[in-house]
Amino acid sequence: NRQLVWLRSDLRCADNPALHTALAKGPVIACFVLSPAQWQQHDDAACKVDFWLRNLTALQVELAALNIPLKLLDCPLWQDLPSALLCFCQQHEISAVHVNHEYPVNEQTRDARCAEALGQHGIGFYPQHGNALAAPGSVLTNAGGVFKVFSQFRKCLFKHWEISGTPTPLPYPQAQAPLPISSDAVPSQVAGFAKPSQALIDLWPAGSAAAHERLRQFTEQHLHAYKDQRDLPALPGTSQLSAYLVAGVLSLRQCLYSAQMANQGHYADGSAGAVHWISELIWREFYLHITAGYPRVSRHRAFRPETELVAWRDAPDDLAAWQQGRTGVPIVDAAMRQLLATGWMHNRLRMISAMFLTKNLLIDWREGERWFMQHLIDGDLAANNGGWQWSASTGTDAAPYFRVFNPVSQSQRNDPDGAFIRHWLPELNSLDNKAIHQPPQGLFAPSGYPAPIVDLASSRERAIAAFQALPKAS
Ligand code: FAD
Repeated sequence: NRQLVWLRSDLRCADNPALHTALAKGPVIACFVLSPAQWQQHDDAACKVDFWLRNLTALQVELAALNIPLKLLDCPLWQDLPSALLCFCQQHEISAVHVNHEYPVNEQTRDARCAEALGQHGIGFYPQHGNALAAPGSVLTNAGGVFKVFSQFRKCLFKHWEISGTPTPLPYPQAQAPLPISSDAVPSQVAGFAKPSQALIDLWPAGSAAAHERLRQFTEQHLHAYKDQRDLPALPGTSQLSAYLVAGVLSLRQCLYSAQMANQGHYADGSAGAVHWISELIWREFYLHITAGYPRVSRHRAFRPETELVAWRDAPDDLAAWQQGRTGVPIVDAAMRQLLATGWMHNRLRMISAMFLTKNLLIDWREGERWFMQHLIDGDLAANNGGWQWSASTGTDAAPYFRVFNPVSQSQRNDPDGAFIRHWLPELNSLDNKAIHQPPQGLFAPSGYPAPIVDLASSRERAIAAFQALPKAS
């Protein structure tokens, strides 16, 4: 009656419903599938793949303490997975496979095909909603639809919580009796994905102990000031837990629970910082439900179909300048260099740099989405697509097209003394706190720093006109 827990974006032992259920049913083996060709098709970043491998290594130690062997399955493309997984299950006499759902289309298709292939041989396939706060499909409008507006989604989720309480993490599993099966060694690298710099690796220590320590420090030191500090990129005002949530080293439930514990059990009242942070966790949840409910977001389609007709510019030089942090707009360039150096970017800067690309440069949001995915350690289809379509005004509950961020005033407001810009653009260090946001041109231009590649005022008008030219949504 052997059970297989197939680990994917749920690299944890604690609060892992798939693992929990498998252990209740019989002796458990764990597996992880190495699919480098598939990961490349999905634009997964090298630093993210490295993060998975480092977390798997840490997880293997935790699993070993529970007497659960971890096997690795080589299957470059998911199209071959149904037969590879079946073969693995037959070889190890597995009677059921347990997973936590992943919601993008390719992942859903993969699971449906695996379930079918296994089912034909009497092997069960049991998915759980272990990475979500509520099962997608359970938080719906009165008409039975998926919410498209965040505030309404959150209100409805809160109503559920008022009735049934907030979801709480599962207890840590008990060790099983040892099995006569050895674990596979986790590779330190896979072909096609370069090893990131040691400096980047040091920013993102792997393993659940490191993740929980980060969560503890954040809730103790920064949670209550979150509302006031979350938009200031020079401060450590946000949790930097996204990579751990995306890899599933931490669950949303564990984060919610910690924030509630620091707020006398409340989620909608009490500390403004805690309430606001919980709201951000719910944004993650919202985009998971959108991804599960609207397959078109996984297919690179605009959420609002009429925006497919925006006359995006084909401007490879401008795109390259944006990618490399050479646009001549300091806050955008500093943000883009933070991304390349650390695999992460502050949320306010993601919005500023995405608006700059899609509005001031009028370049298709899909170019930005891909670049982010290729470089983010927390790259996540649902959140990344949601963030890009929000910024590009093509998405659900998105920024209205006429509300274009001015990157200079954003910079003045959120990085008032230019500390963040100075850190990432040392060539601007000699400028004063006013000039740092918009360096002088001509004779007094800082050497080694480009002039702006676009005029902010006229490009803003151009973007608004491009959206006004669209046919009205039916
Ligand atoms: P905190 O402020 O501490 O928030 C806690 C957690 O809440 C985050 O870790 C994250 O899981 C969730 N969260 C916060 N804000 C959002 C949001 N707007 N949407 C969804 N979840 C949110 N987030 C990703 O996890 N992966 C991505 O690929 C991603 N791409 C983005 C692209 C764009 C253009 C934009 C505007 C946002 C994107 N985000 C993405 C959302 C957000 O920027 C990051 O989650 C956040 O910056 C992570 O930092 P943190 O852990 O310190 O967040």
